[in-house]
Amino acid sequence: MATTAKNEKYVYSFGGGKADGNESMKNLLGGKGANLAEMAGHKDLKLPVPPGFTITTEVCTYFYDNKRQYPSTLEKQIKDALAQVEKLMGKKFGDVKNPLLMSVRSGARKSMPGMMDTVLNIGLNDETIQGLIAESGDERFAYDAYRRLVMMYADVVIEKAGGMEPAKGIGIRKIMDERLEEVKKEKGVELDTDLSADDLKKLVKEFKALTKKHLKQDFPETPWDQLMGGVGAVFASWNGKRAIEYRRIENIPDEWGTAVNVQAMVFGNMGNDSCTGVAFTRNPGNGENKFYGEYLVNAQGEDVVAGIRTPAPINQYSKNDHSKNLTTLEKFMPEQYKELDEIQQRLEKHYKDMQDIEFTIEKGKLYMLQCRVGKRNGVSAVKMAADMYKEGMIDAETAILRVNPNQLVELLLPMFDPDIEKTHKVIAKGLPAGPGGAVGRVVFSSEDAVEWASKGKKVILVREETSPEDVDGMHKSEAILTTKGGMTSHAALVARGWGKCCIVGCSEISIHDKEKYFVTKDGKKIKEGDWVSLNGSKGTVYEGSLPLIDVDLNKNQSYKQLMTLVDKYKTMGVRTNADTPKDVEQATYFGAEGVGLFRTEHMFYGEGSDKPLFLLRKMIMSDTEQERKSALNELFTFVKRDIKATLEVMKGNPVTIRLLDPPLHEFVPHDKAKLQELSKELGVSMSILNRRILALHENNPMLGHRGVRLGVSYPEITEMQVRAIFEAAAELQKEGVKAFPEIMIPVTCGRHELSHQKAIVDKVYDETLEKLGVKKIPYMYGTMIEIPRAALKADSMAMVADFFSFGTNDLTQMSFGFSRDDIGGFLPKYLDLKLLPGDPFVSIDQSGVGELIKIGVERGRKTKPNLKVGICGEHGGDAESVKFCHSIGMNYVSCSPFRVPIARLAAAQAAIEDKKYVKTS
Ligand code: ADP
Ligand code: MG
Ligand code: MG
Repeated sequence: MATTAKNEKYVYSFGGGKADGNESMKNLLGGKGANLAEMAGHKDLKLPVPPGFTITTEVCTYFYDNKRQYPSTLEKQIKDALAQVEKLMGKKFGDVKNPLLMSVRSGARKSMPGMMDTVLNIGLNDETIQGLIAESGDERFAYDAYRRLVMMYADVVIEKAGGMEPAKGIGIRKIMDERLEEVKKEKGVELDTDLSADDLKKLVKEFKALTKKHLKQDFPETPWDQLMGGVGAVFASWNGKRAIEYRRIENIPDEWGTAVNVQAMVFGNMGNDSCTGVAFTRNPGNGENKFYGEYLVNAQGEDVVAGIRTPAPINQYSKNDHSKNLTTLEKFMPEQYKELDEIQQRLEKHYKDMQDIEFTIEKGKLYMLQCRVGKRNGVSAVKMAADMYKEGMIDAETAILRVNPNQLVELLLPMFDPDIEKTHKVIAKGLPAGPGGAVGRVVFSSEDAVEWASKGKKVILVREETSPEDVDGMHKSEAILTTKGGMTSHAALVARGWGKCCIVGCSEISIHDKEKYFVTKDGKKIKEGDWVSLNGSKGTVYEGSLPLIDVDLNKNQSYKQLMTLVDKYKTMGVRTNADTPKDVEQATYFGAEGVGLFRTEHMFYGEGSDKPLFLLRKMIMSDTEQERKSALNELFTFVKRDIKATLEVMKGNPVTIRLLDPPLHEFVPHDKAKLQELSKELGVSMSILNRRILALHENNPMLGHRGVRLGVSYPEITEMQVRAIFEAAAELQKEGVKAFPEIMIPVTCGRHELSHQKAIVDKVYDETLEKLGVKKIPYMYGTMIEIPRAALKADSMAMVADFFSFGTNDLTQMSFGFSRDDIGGFLPKYLDLKLLPGDPFVSIDQSGVGELIKIGVERGRKTKPNLKVGICGEHGGDAESVKFCHSIGMNYVSCSPFRVPIARLAAAQAAIEDKKYVKTS
């Protein structure tokens, strides 16, 4: 709600060793503003931050709640704060003798790289520039600052924030950039820095004319109008297309709003004793505890990120293939480098996390312009958390909470088979900005990437450089390849945030994006749609599609250290859904403590399934119990062998074996040869066989003759499976191997089905004890809860069942009435229109399906307090869902082998968050 209170504070000042705000005020001041205040004012820091002030996010909310009006006291508060800056800087805003220039910068709570645009050098006009020239004694510098202001202002404030959609994507910035390039060509120079004061002066005039011509507006000459125009633009850009798109991808609420930071300018473009740079307190690419960064001499603002010139390394460690011959900041300005190094160490110690910092050196004087917790890929996140814990910087709980569970996927990122990679020729080399291997078809625009990807094609986005407009296409691509830019460029930063394979600065190729192809330095032409392979860990590009293989996690010491902590904290068990001894072994390697779902039907699919499938078909096509029993007898051997192998790998850890689940017609053969073979085997004619097939047909098989219903219709099917389970367990027992099967009945909706099947289990149990001469076979009997009615009837179900396993795939399907095989047709639209917050098959729909699960757990435990409860849907490997399962008291989650590490970490985080909550509430 908007507030109009007269004494409301809307503006927070910082600078001169003081600050009104601090780091904890991110919601009000935005991330950038809160950190500027912290750096400027905290007693342990008091860093050289150019003075300024932050206009709060509340003003943004007010602005949108009140038809784009500001609170009435805002103007006065801004003027007061500005006066303070003037005092600290000894300059006046709008002064013709010694003008103070300001930057206007956005800053939401969470960093949204590049989403909001900054306007630098505000306060310059044809009069104040004379003062800047006189004060700096550098006309070229002054006009460089001026032409940048006109360009940024036209682009950010007038065009973008004004909501103008430039025709055919040719915006004012591009028009001005092209003009700048032309002038450079006319002058025969290569770099912006080679242009003279006169050239730049002319450009300023031309830029103003271009603004008028294309945008039908004048560049405002009054400094105050420029300032307020900039402020308004930041607020407007919060609801710009790009910002909304990014918020959608990153799930940032629209209501947060952005703050605006207004700050005195310092100049990295004041000549060759000035520079600007970006650095990280640790290497965000691999997590190493080494100061890492890039800088550009005689440059301003975003030049480093924009990749206009190749940035130089700040130190030896930061050198790469492109910058290895450039002078390091350490060499170039040893004193300032030392100061910067000392500051970065203090910052990391203060924030206890890796910081991403922006700095500028103006005529030998160092200024800090920004710090924030740095983005990192999964590999680095794990290494930094483990290292900082070892260094004693953070405690175990913090280390565990530091890593986003989903980022663990990146540790398992497939890489190219090195033996095969060796045999392929590298067609181009760039900088390794995002690790892992990726394979896809080349596209040259973000729009094409989106379109191709929507058709299920894997694409690699190839661009000279990327900008915020490309975010959607970058997201949909397997990998990104750019020809310009360094390790801190837009593409690198965004890809790093997502853990996406990315190569930047690959200047060896030249892109012809209109004709849609690129050419390598050897003259090879790669067209749109051609396959390429990128090794983002090395920066190498190959033609064609190289095979990917998995990595060996056990070689990653940091991962092992972190997961040791994880296992100390988590209280829920983590099991795996696995159908073969091989999968089970894989999952054990990832830390699975049992099997939460072993599907007996798996043996009828894929490799080695010929014989069992034939026997199953024979059983299905049998007409009499006699025929069926003889087929089942043959099948028994296969089922028992599989179950025994899996129980054996698990060595006494629980293995939940689900009895046959799918509708039988799924196994009916369709090809003629198979049918003929079957008719021979059964000794029945093809026409009889066809009639039996017809009889098995169902209109709605997913809700048809399947699950426990099969066991009710054909008790002998249950009997065979249960016998296989008990005999396998008993045999292992006799061989001295522990085994603990859990028999799980699928698709139940009430107690009586369970009791019916339990009678069979009891009978076979007794028979097996006698047959194999053992006293006892440890096991459990339970059911899957996957039909809404089962959840509601959980109290009576628990009278028979010892455990519940929530089959959340089907439970979601049946609760929503969404066929999970057919959601492709309508779910994307639902998500687009925000009719649903997310895909309920990916993350549990906590308020709906979650409610059913809660009811199921509560009612079940009312009957049987120590009822064992777990989950075996795909949701078991989704971090948010795992946390939900913890919160409602489940004993374990189960997921596919590759999600096991994610589930373990999420479970530990849930336990820690839970404890913290209890502590403070
Ligand atoms: P973002 O980080 O969202 O891209 P910033 O507000 O950090 O945007 O600004 C873009 C660039 O302008 C950065 O390189 C920053 O260091 C630079 N910049 C911002 N304010 C100033 C200032 N007062 N003096 C000098 N450079 C500035
Ligand atoms: Mg920016
Ligand atoms: Mg920045």
